[in-house]
Amino acid sequence: MWLTGRLAPDFKTIANFRQANGPAIRAVCSQFIVLCRQLGLFTRAVVAIDSSKMKAVNNRDKNFTAAKVQSRMKQVQDNIDRYLEELDRADREESDIAEPKAARLKEKIARLRDQICALEAREEEVRLAPDQQVSLTDPDARAMATAGRGTSLVGYNLQVAVDTQHHLIVAHEVINIGNDRGQLSTMAAKAKDALGVEALDAIADKGYFKGEEIRTCEGIGVTAFVPRPLTSGAKARGRFGKQDFVYLEQEDVYRCPVGERLIYRFTSVEADMTLHSYWSSNCQACALHDQCTTGKERRIKRWEHEAVVEVMGRRLDRRPDAMRIRRQTVEHPFGTLKTWMGSTHFLMKTLKHVGTETSLHILAYNLKRMISTFGVQPLIAAIKT
Ligand code: SF4
Repeated sequence: MWLTGRLAPDFKTIANFRQANGPAIRAVCSQFIVLCRQLGLFTRAVVAIDSSKMKAVNNRDKNFTAAKVQSRMKQVQDNIDRYLEELDRADREESDIAEPKAARLKEKIARLRDQICALEAREEEVRLAPDQQVSLTDPDARAMATAGRGTSLVGYNLQVAVDTQHHLIVAHEVINIGNDRGQLSTMAAKAKDALGVEALDAIADKGYFKGEEIRTCEGIGVTAFVPRPLTSGAKARGRFGKQDFVYLEQEDVYRCPVGERLIYRFTSVEADMTLHSYWSSNCQACALHDQCTTGKERRIKRWEHEAVVEVMGRRLDRRPDAMRIRRQTVEHPFGTLKTWMGSTHFLMKTLKHVGTETSLHILAYNLKRMISTFGVQPLIAAIKT
């Protein structure tokens, strides 16, 4: 309204404008961060990277995976079986209501059989989809698990990089992949570009932990702070976890909890990662054998670039406040955006348009943030110059 001299276009005009000007809206959003940079706001070059799953315009019932189709087929088949039994009973009955009842049941069974045919066609569609998933209302929306709540929604994954000083969203991306494991270096690179800095610290939660991503960050001048998730099955079952073994770099061996040396044995490649295997020959005679392994000996695998991850672990030990800073930084923008968007979140469909809608929200968030930290008049003056 300010830009258009207090003109108040109706909702359709706004919707059309938003639909037709995606690239320009995204460019304005980026340009605003350039303006903040020129105003000297980003002196620390530290960002918190986080994500949130946001609902799409796609009901859960209109999203199909192979498992969902199977479960619905089973439900429909159970109903058919139940009606068939009722039909048998109706056939045996000799009363004037038996005949119309049987006709009604036959109709219901025919309808359910049509549903089975439709589900079989859907099953084939799901099988042929690149990620074995089909959404009917918004074809790009995907079913995603939501962290902490143990539920899922059909939507998008909004990635943001937020500066820890002013809580401005310096970079964002909307994706339709339900996890964050491969997003750290992409988001950090975008944030680094937006801030125009040579070196950047990026703090993220353990959902972003991935060795290759941390190594890529190192290569582009980003220092990552990401805690390692404790995924050791051995530890969960009460046995020693990998963290109980100490790597001795100079000797290229692991020292186990009883002080034995696990020496290098061979190298293998698993899921495109080169792994070195280590074990000791004294495991069978070890008093703690049962606490350590169910096999003959305890084997430890080491990624060829594991040192990068170990250095990051030590870095995190020296910055115990990193996770608190991360939480405090990202809670603010996500809390605000979700309040504005309401319970339905996105209104537009497809990845491209949802991306535009997000850019508009983020531009509004950053603008309001700047108005409250910088003031209206100084901000207008800065925009004019
Ligand atoms: S079983 Fe082997 S690796 Fe485990 S504590 Fe005993 S000697 Fe060490």
